[in-house]
Amino acid sequence: MGLLPRLRGAGYQVRGVRFVDREGRTSGGFPVDGFERLTHGRFTSLRRSDLAAALYEALDGQVETLFGDSIATLEDVGDRVRVGFTHAAPREADLVIGADGLHSRVRHLAFGPEAAFEVRLGYHVAAFEVEGYRPRDELVYVSHGVPGRQVSRFAMRGDRTLFLFVFRDEYLPAGSVASLPERRAALARVFGGAGWECPRILALMAEADELYFDRVSQIRMNRWTAGRTALVGDAAACVSLMAGEGTGLAMAEAYVLAGELGDGADHRAALARYEARLQPFLARKQASAARFASSFAPKSALGLGFRNVVTRLLRIPRVAEYFIGRDLRDDITIPHYGL
Ligand SMILES: Cc1cc2nc3c(=O)[nH]c(=O)nc-3n(C[C@H](O)[C@H](O)[C@H](O)COP(=O)(O)OP(=O)(O)OC[C@H]3O[C@@H](n4cnc5c(N)ncnc54)[C@H](O)[C@@H]3O)c2cc1C
Repeated sequence: MGLLPRLRGAGYQVRGVRFVDREGRTSGGFPVDGFERLTHGRFTSLRRSDLAAALYEALDGQVETLFGDSIATLEDVGDRVRVGFTHAAPREADLVIGADGLHSRVRHLAFGPEAAFEVRLGYHVAAFEVEGYRPRDELVYVSHGVPGRQVSRFAMRGDRTLFLFVFRDEYLPAGSVASLPERRAALARVFGGAGWECPRILALMAEADELYFDRVSQIRMNRWTAGRTALVGDAAACVSLMAGEGTGLAMAEAYVLAGELGDGADHRAALARYEARLQPFLARKQASAARFASSFAPKSALGLGFRNVVTRLLRIPRVAEYFIGRDLRDDITIPHYGL
C-alpha cells in the first residue's frame, strides 16, 4: 500500500528498555538492537491512531466510510448478507468482514457471545497520555515493577508522555470498574503504594482526555468465517499486548484475506484458504504470548529480581536469540498476491 515511509516517519525507533526501582535507579533493561537484528530492521513503534490515520489516508476516498455507527444486526440469506446499523439505513452486502477488535460486535452477531472465545491471561491493562510530563527519556521505555504490577512511561512527540499500567487480576479491587471514576480509583489503589513516580503519575490521571482500561485477553476460535462473514485481526485471533505484534498480525491477516478473495469468484474456497493458511500460525503466536504473560509482571520480589537479571543478559546476542528470537521470527511464508 506504499505505507512504509509514512509509518517509519510516524514511528519511534526505540533504543532500549530500562527497569528502575522505587527510587528511580536502574535495576535492569536491555537495548533493542537485538530486536532490530532479529527483525532485519523491520521494527518500529507507533501509535495505533497514527497507523489508523495512515491507512485511512491511503484509501484516498476510494472506499466509502461511515463513522459513528455500528453494525447492529446481521442476517446471512445465502447469496448476500442483510446488515442493520445502529443509525444508518440497512444495507445488503456480498461479504461482511469484522475488523472490530477484541470485543467485536460482528463476532458476537455471527458466532455468539465473547465468553465462548475469550481466554483471559490474568492481567488488566490501562493507559493514558498527558502533556508536559518531566522527566523525559527520549526513545527509552522506562518501566518500574513491584510484585504483580508494572508501570511504564514513554516520551512522545508534542511533549506528550504515554503511561502504561499492567497488573495481575488479583490486585484489582472488588467492585465495578465500568465507569471512568471507578477505573481511576482502581488504578490509584493498585499503584498508590508502588513508589517511583507513581504518586505524580496517578495525580495526572484526571488531566488525561482518555483512559484505556481493559482485561488482557486472547480470542481463540476454531473458525474465523461463517457463511458470508469473516473476522480479521483481534476480532478473529487477538494475541494480546503480550505478543507485542498484534498489529502486524492483523495487517497480515487482512492482506491474506484480500489476496485469497482475489476476484471474488468463489468466496467459500477463498475463506477456507484464508483460515488454513493462518490459523496454525496464529495459534503458535498465541501460545508464545501466553507463555510470556506468565513472566510479564512477576508475582514476587525474587521473580522481579530474576527478570531484571535476565533482561541484562539480553545484551548478549546469543541470549537474546534464545529468549526472544524464536518468538519474533515468523516461520511462515505469505504469498505475493500482487495486490
Ligand atoms: C495496551 C496495548 C498495547 C499494545 N501494544 C502493541 C504493540 O506494541 N505492538 C503491536 O503490534 N500490538 C500491540 N497491541 C495490540 C494491537 O493494538 C492490536 O492487536 C491491534 O490494534 C489489532 O487491530 P484490529 O484492527 O484487529 O483491532 P483494533 O485496533 O482494536 O481496531 C478495532 C476498531 O474497530 C472499532 N470498533 C469496535 N467495535 C465497533 C463497532 N461495534 N462498530 C464499529 N466500529 C467498532 C474500534 O473503534 C477500532 O477502531 C497492544 C494492545 C494494547 C491493548
